[in-house]
Amino acid sequence: MKKVVIVGAGMGGLATALRLADQGFKVTICEKQPRPGGRSNLLEENGFRLDMGPTILVMKEAFEDTYRAIGEDLDERLDFVQLDPNYRVYYHDDTYIDLYSNMAKLTQEVEKIEAGSAENLFSFIGSSARKYALGMNFVDRNYDRLTDLANFKSLQQMVSTRSHQNLYQQVSRFFNGNDKLTKAFSFHSMFLGLSPFDALAMYSLITYADLALGMWFPKGGIYRIVEDMVSLAEDRGVVIHTNAPVAEIEIKDGRIGGVRLESGERIEADIVISNADLPYTYRNLINGNAPKEYSAQKLDRMSYACSGYILYLGLDQPYPHMRHQSLYFSEDYKANLEAIFNKKTLPEDPSFHLSVPTVTDPNLAPDGHSAIYVLAPMPNLSANIDWNLAAPIVRDQLLDQLEHIIDPNIREHIVWERDYRPTDWQTDINAALGTAFGSFSHDFMQSAYFRPHNKSKMIDGLYFVGQSTYPGIGMPMVHISAKLVSERILAEWP
Ligand SMILES: Cc1cc2nc3c(=O)[nH]c(=O)nc-3n(C[C@H](O)[C@H](O)[C@H](O)COP(=O)(O)OP(=O)(O)OC[C@H]3O[C@@H](n4cnc5c(N)ncnc54)[C@H](O)[C@@H]3O)c2cc1C
Repeated sequence: MKKVVIVGAGMGGLATALRLADQGFKVTICEKQPRPGGRSNLLEENGFRLDMGPTILVMKEAFEDTYRAIGEDLDERLDFVQLDPNYRVYYHDDTYIDLYSNMAKLTQEVEKIEAGSAENLFSFIGSSARKYALGMNFVDRNYDRLTDLANFKSLQQMVSTRSHQNLYQQVSRFFNGNDKLTKAFSFHSMFLGLSPFDALAMYSLITYADLALGMWFPKGGIYRIVEDMVSLAEDRGVVIHTNAPVAEIEIKDGRIGGVRLESGERIEADIVISNADLPYTYRNLINGNAPKEYSAQKLDRMSYACSGYILYLGLDQPYPHMRHQSLYFSEDYKANLEAIFNKKTLPEDPSFHLSVPTVTDPNLAPDGHSAIYVLAPMPNLSANIDWNLAAPIVRDQLLDQLEHIIDPNIREHIVWERDYRPTDWQTDINAALGTAFGSFSHDFMQSAYFRPHNKSKMIDGLYFVGQSTYPGIGMPMVHISAKLVSERILAEWP
């Protein structure tokens, strides 16, 4: 029986463990944190249960596929609710638009913002659907050579869908320059840690996935999926060590020997799969003499995604007027994104994502209370920001906006509170530069074939899974990543 050690119990690590254990591999996971989940973690205190990281579940099919591959049915095991609308988008002038999957309702909403824009919406959705079809060709495949990415047909499709253009500019053209509608239909690239002003138009495929395939919420929160995957893994004999940071991936004569934990314990393995951030893995877990495809200099030259500041609040009011998911766009949205991605300074008026999961599942808070999550994208730790000083400033800015959006007296209703800062991702999960959604940004030269591959060319038996490798950032992507690396290992280790 081949022995596999997975470094990290993020969703990608867990999904790979499920697939390989189901195929007869002996799988051990070593996780640094006290709880599995990685970026998809849980905050449970004082009767409040909040997801710490991802809250938006789209492309549910990718999760279902992991379950199907091991003979399980996701919908039989967890109770999913489809959100309706997907989001409410608030603008700085106290207006808003609801983004529905239902086209009739969505049409009414865009017409409210600008009469006559329904036709523009349909053209935009049609174009995004074609980008989605094209993009999924690049997403769902293992890459070995450049021709896997670029053949004549795909290049032709790139050009005909104008996927190579700039996202914000293209969406703006679809909506005749209407600023509110452009923001509402282009922000999705932020989920990849990428500004819509810098992203390829290709990424409107995420907007399509969101609107056309729907947005879901498992009762109990996203962390119910992690809990369920852990229980399925344990049923299949996967051993999960928590509080077990790996200190070194041991390599001898160019091949994997096993891992050494910080405790000094050694675990032998034929195969090691790192689910930890790839830059961290190369810099910290592979000793100096081992061959490295990614030197420190090469890693320094790569571009890294943004981070975020999160405020978690327990409030003694139910707030049924709120939507489950909302976004707030600051007045000078461009300046906000410039600060995060280019100037690397604190945004003056941060845009944010607001999630009130108790609207869908009141059991996530004590009776009559609500649990709230506010995520403001922020520069990563390459910025010169002292988070001990910055955190109270950002907290206040966010609460000022929540007074407009939720309740003018919101500060009086806070009964429990926590926050999470860019420095926390670095300390807790070894995230490169404290990046939140994932380590490498998704510019063209770090996507698909150009993203680090899931197999080391130099070290026999070393593989990668999760957001640092292809297809990339986000829960559905890391489920697909788990499928791809498992397929590779099954083919190479029969
Ligand atoms: C705030 C936030 C909001 C997000 N929102 C969304 C969203 O709404 N929808 C969505 O789809 N995605 C979202 N994402 C992105 C998504 O959560 C991630 O892309 C995905 O969960 C990454 O999974 P992964 O498998 O790559 O592993 P990670 O979650 O990155 O886990 C890696 C694991 O490796 C462990 N590790 C690191 N070093 C070691 C070591 N030396 N020894 C042992 N273990 C180690 C870490 O502790 C961690 O558990 C969000 C992320 C964040 C942070």
